Amino acid sequence: MTQIVGIQMQKVIDFFLVKIFYVALGLHLFCFCKPNVLQPLQQNSTADNGNNGTSSLQNGNTGNSNVSANGNASGNPNVSNDSANTSSPDSSDCSPIFPLKDLSHVLDFAPGTSRGFGDNRDKNTRAHAGCDLYAPVHTPIYAVCDGQILAFESFYLGTSYVEIKHPNFVARYGEVENTWIPGLNVNDNVKQGQQIATVGHCNGLPSSMTMVHFELYTGDLTGPLTVRSSTIKAPSGLSYQRRADLKNCYDDTYSWYTSAKNN
Ligand SMILES: [Zn+2]
Repeated sequence: MTQIVGIQMQKVIDFFLVKIFYVALGLHLFCFCKPNVLQPLQQNSTADNGNNGTSSLQNGNTGNSNVSANGNASGNPNVSNDSANTSSPDSSDCSPIFPLKDLSHVLDFAPGTSRGFGDNRDKNTRAHAGCDLYAPVHTPIYAVCDGQILAFESFYLGTSYVEIKHPNFVARYGEVENTWIPGLNVNDNVKQGQQIATVGHCNGLPSSMTMVHFELYTGDLTGPLTVRSSTIKAPSGLSYQRRADLKNCYDDTYSWYTSAKNN
């Protein structure tokens, strides 16, 4: 009888030992496998990001910027504008600087001066979408904040423009010379105060009329900045013929100008 009870007790103990063994084995496998499962996932994730970056470059932006880098700004405008949404510069705030360091030629660009935002253009068929910041041809132009170059394209009368996404707005630096600053390309990030272009000269205008035609956009919208069918209008009733997130450039630009003069 004692032997039978002993054998049954032994079976019970064996049963629990087997249970404990499998539980321990399960825990061991879980702890052992977990990092091995996660590590490849993390690596794949990183690789995917890298591949995405590469593929976005292969979608035409590199080709476009190479064309422009050869000195001709007549690249593909749509490609560079599409890239505006996929990557953004540092989202931190910025205290913008005036885009020119040589202030000696800047004229009053308040509205109503013919150089101001909303002034009549093209024989009173459209409103001026920018602020005209006068400076001699070849004068360096600087990024007002950190940002990313979205486009370098043809503009008016043989000049070009550089479009840059800054943290809180998009700026178009217009009527610049057609040659890239060496080392810059579409999609490049630029630092505040970095030279991004030089003042150009519109064909047919007097040599005294050279400037940065400076436009600001909130950046809430996407696509080409020049939308001829835009319904946004100046107080005069004329259309700006620009993308609808166009901002009045005057107040911001004038405060940056005042700061530059006082420093
Ligand atoms: Zn202008």
